[in-house]
Amino acid sequence: MPTHRLALHWFRRDLRLTDNTALSRAVQEAAAVIPVYAVSAWEKEHRWTGPARQDFLCGSLASLEKNIEAIGGRLIFRRGPDATAILQQLLTETKADAVYFNRDPGDPYGLAMDARVRALCRELGVACYDEKDAVLHEASEILTGGGGPYRVFTPYARNWNAQPKASCRPRLKQFAPLPPEAATLPSDPCPTLATWKLPANTARIVEPGERAARTRLKNAIEAILPAYGEQRNTPFGQTTSRLSQDLRFGLISIRELHHQSTAALQAAATASEKKSVQTYINELAWREFYFALLTRFPSVFDHEFNAEWRGLPWSYDPAAFTRWKDGQTGFPIVDAGMRELQATGFMHNRVRMIVAMFLTKDLRLDWRLGEEYFMQKLVDGENASNNGGWQWSAGTGADAAPYFRIQNPWSQTKSYDPEARYIKQWCPELKDVPASLIAAGPKASGRITLAPHYPAPMVDHSEDRDRTLAMFNQHRQQQRP
Ligand SMILES: Cc1cc2nc3c(=O)[nH]c(=O)nc-3n(C[C@H](O)[C@H](O)[C@H](O)COP(=O)(O)OP(=O)(O)OC[C@H]3O[C@@H](n4cnc5c(N)ncnc54)[C@H](O)[C@@H]3O)c2cc1C
Repeated sequence: MPTHRLALHWFRRDLRLTDNTALSRAVQEAAAVIPVYAVSAWEKEHRWTGPARQDFLCGSLASLEKNIEAIGGRLIFRRGPDATAILQQLLTETKADAVYFNRDPGDPYGLAMDARVRALCRELGVACYDEKDAVLHEASEILTGGGGPYRVFTPYARNWNAQPKASCRPRLKQFAPLPPEAATLPSDPCPTLATWKLPANTARIVEPGERAARTRLKNAIEAILPAYGEQRNTPFGQTTSRLSQDLRFGLISIRELHHQSTAALQAAATASEKKSVQTYINELAWREFYFALLTRFPSVFDHEFNAEWRGLPWSYDPAAFTRWKDGQTGFPIVDAGMRELQATGFMHNRVRMIVAMFLTKDLRLDWRLGEEYFMQKLVDGENASNNGGWQWSAGTGADAAPYFRIQNPWSQTKSYDPEARYIKQWCPELKDVPASLIAAGPKASGRITLAPHYPAPMVDHSEDRDRTLAMFNQHRQQQRP
């Protein structure tokens, strides 16, 4: 006997039918379920998003709509000021007696929305069920011996790895028929970029939708994980799993990814393969470490996590910022990364660190500028990991790179792109320049520029490194009583 007559499942960042915690529960507990996607209107404020990620979202929603139809359901899209207004309207129209949704993993905006929907249901006397889904462990589950949040990754990861993990649920096979009054419910069309008045997407993004994500998952487990340890710092070619956007939008379940990674760990034939897979699993823990930090310390959005570095005199030079964004700094590894980002909405992790450190430590531009620009461009743009990555690179974050450890873009090139294959892919002006000259840089190679149509480096790395160290040291002295 079902507990509820009719339930709404509110889809958010869980755009899949396989191992979807709240959706599985809804179809078990309610006689019929209406799947809903709330299209919030925020067409005026695009500071934190952009066409590439929204295009991926739209494609994934279109694919979800088809997948739901194929098993007898109908995804209802509704536009409105926000999810609470939309759900309230739908509850009135359908007389549904329950709402199911998966909780936000730690973003303050998402958590606030969770709370508002719970309050709405309480007010209307409708049952409300929210589930953990987007992470293996929420912030409240991984705590220090004293019951507080971790600020350092290694002990966090030890604890995270030691906790039992939830098992996966099978793919949903069928939606029950809806009662007549709900079967004809009006729906808005699946959103497009025009819905939010966003310009067309020009980036070549990966294929959206659950099926494409599952193909990437299979490829990652079979082809990437065994050599991940050795290859993951090489930006040329596919050396990492490329699943970040799928985790961002919940096209694959983190439980399934962890379960399959653990199976790969057990099946690993060599010690190096084992180490590779363990390194990969640790990256999944980084993702949750950053969610936990954002949950516990939402002020990191505006402030340096490490209070010692608040108020640093970062620069706001718009011309320098534009050269960085356009990939015209004259530092090939930086320019290649920024151009990859523009062209595809993705950038390899090693290069994200290099370009972020260049912005903050060579140009001394405020890390918040880079953080915002990444959110506008990245298909996998995720507030928690992005803020964490930026604060790590700026030296201001939890367990961040110490401020005095400033990566040298030229030696990073030598280490991670010694043959300049990545650089030449994204900076074709340099295709005829020998890799050894690219890694040496114009100063060491005795050239002013590396190639006729390529700019000279916009700063001198060693001089600017010293200026940055002076900025940090001076700030520290000024803070002392
Ligand atoms: C400045 C900066 C900004 C970043 N912004 C984002 C962002 O907006 N969204 C995002 O998902 N990641 C971000 N990262 C982390 C990382 O670069 C990406 O997760 C990774 O490049 C995605 O590629 P992949 O799926 O092939 O990763 P893989 O190397 O295959 O890793 C597997 C998964 O682990 C997680 N992961 C890996 N590295 C990290 C990390 N350092 N921090 C948190 N999670 C990690 C991701 O979910 C990733 O999909 C950022 C890193 C830096 C340095």
